[in-house]
Amino acid sequence: ARTPLLMGNWKMYKTVGESRSFAESLAKQSAALGASVEYAVCAPFTTLHVLRVMLPSQVKIGAQNVYPEKEGAFTGEIAPPMLVEFGTQYVLAGHSERRTLFGETDDLIGRKVRAIVDHGMRAVLCVGENLTEKESGQTNAVVAGQVIAGLASLSASQVAESVVAYEPVWAIGSGKTATPEDAQSVASEIRKLISEKYDASAAEKVRILYGGSVKPNNIASFLSQPDIDGALVGGASLDATSFADMAKAV
Ligand code: 13P
Repeated sequence: ARTPLLMGNWKMYKTVGESRSFAESLAKQSAALGASVEYAVCAPFTTLHVLRVMLPSQVKIGAQNVYPEKEGAFTGEIAPPMLVEFGTQYVLAGHSERRTLFGETDDLIGRKVRAIVDHGMRAVLCVGENLTEKESGQTNAVVAGQVIAGLASLSASQVAESVVAYEPVWAIGSGKTATPEDAQSVASEIRKLISEKYDASAAEKVRILYGGSVKPNNIASFLSQPDIDGALVGGASLDATSFADMAKAV
């Protein structure tokens, strides 16, 4: 059975001081963190150290981005070994905000996934259709293209250890979610695709998350779907009590 994963994505929120407050507050509520669920927070680079020191030990550290080279003349970028040094275990690749605001292509995202895995961290490949694509019935085709390109350089056993987050772009930060049934349908298609492109074992093991306006009061409806193994949560992951409430609902 796949271990459920509750993952926060803080985006460009929280200073070191604010991160310290979050960690202190979550530590007081750590009874909400169950042993059979995995927890992680994907935080700004500047806060990874304080979070690693201060978060309850059940909560893993994730980054939101990485550059796919070991080192070099890439002004402003962060390399995989720099993240490993901080104890980073998960790295997002291909979040829709990176794709749309920063022009990240499927090719670059695939190179990032490769670099994350090569350095012993777990990649969280983010995929999802925008509203125009949804309304023209292209959801499965768009998602399939992003999944194939994003995972292209991995072996079946590496795919098995990775995470795919299905985040419909129109559901991010909008207060609108996919219906649990629609999210399940896309998750099931992703698993089927991985079975065809890799093998049955990779498809069985890869974890698929739903993201997009997940809150304490709706998370259970997604987690109860057979092919949805967790959630990638933006806004509702910024508050420690809200994070603990979601942990209780997983
Ligand atoms: P919200 O939970 O704020 O909609 O953000 C979702 C997201 O983009 C997580 O990566």
